[in-house]
Amino acid sequence: MTQPRSARFLIVGPQGSGKGTQGVLIAEAFGVPAVSTGDIFRANIAGETELGLQVQAIIESGELVPDALTSELVRDRLSQDDAAKGFLLDGYPRNRGQVADLDAFLGDRGESLDAVIELVVPRAESIERISKRAIEQGRTDDTEEVIANRLAIYERETAPILAVYRESGLVTEIDGVGGLDEVTSRIFAALAERGLVPPVAV
Ligand code: ADP
Repeated sequence: MTQPRSARFLIVGPQGSGKGTQGVLIAEAFGVPAVSTGDIFRANIAGETELGLQVQAIIESGELVPDALTSELVRDRLSQDDAAKGFLLDGYPRNRGQVADLDAFLGDRGESLDAVIELVVPRAESIERISKRAIEQGRTDDTEEVIANRLAIYERETAPILAVYRESGLVTEIDGVGGLDEVTSRIFAALAERGLVPPVAV
């Protein structure tokens, strides 16, 4: 089978769906950077950078960082050389405004997405997983109240963007319930059905 010329992916799913973990595995296999806006923001908060100070209170409340700031950050990251042939975006775009920003950026470069991976996890399961993670990782935005806010924003603003991508035939729905490896295999199988196969490791 021929290798895909590009590997531009989004992974979308509710909090606790495992998208961060799966995203890194997919990105590694395809040899493209995994770009997680949440990770970039957290690194800036930890490093006490100007951006970190700007977004800390917003993130701790579970609200979204303003689109202009987030989209600029993503444009800068995707303009780096290592993202020329592809990337895996995790946590962006998160609402319709960001979808429009990403479209405009890619459109200007004559690029487009190859697939949108939707991890489907029922609400009860995702709440259970985040509660576990809260104990293990101690993320400051993993308190009960903030989690509820993040899930509400996901359902209200992020889930609807899938309809936009579904119209373009880009969405592949993956059952996110099951073991880590099981879910990874489902994702690779679904991508392969679309002719998206990772380059063979040498
Ligand atoms: P989760 O998916 O568990 O909410 P993330 O690591 O993706 O975790 O995001 C953590 C927080 O970072 C979000 O609650 C939000 O405040 C901020 N954030 C991340 N990505 C975006 C984005 N695309 N737009 C606005 N805010 C974002």
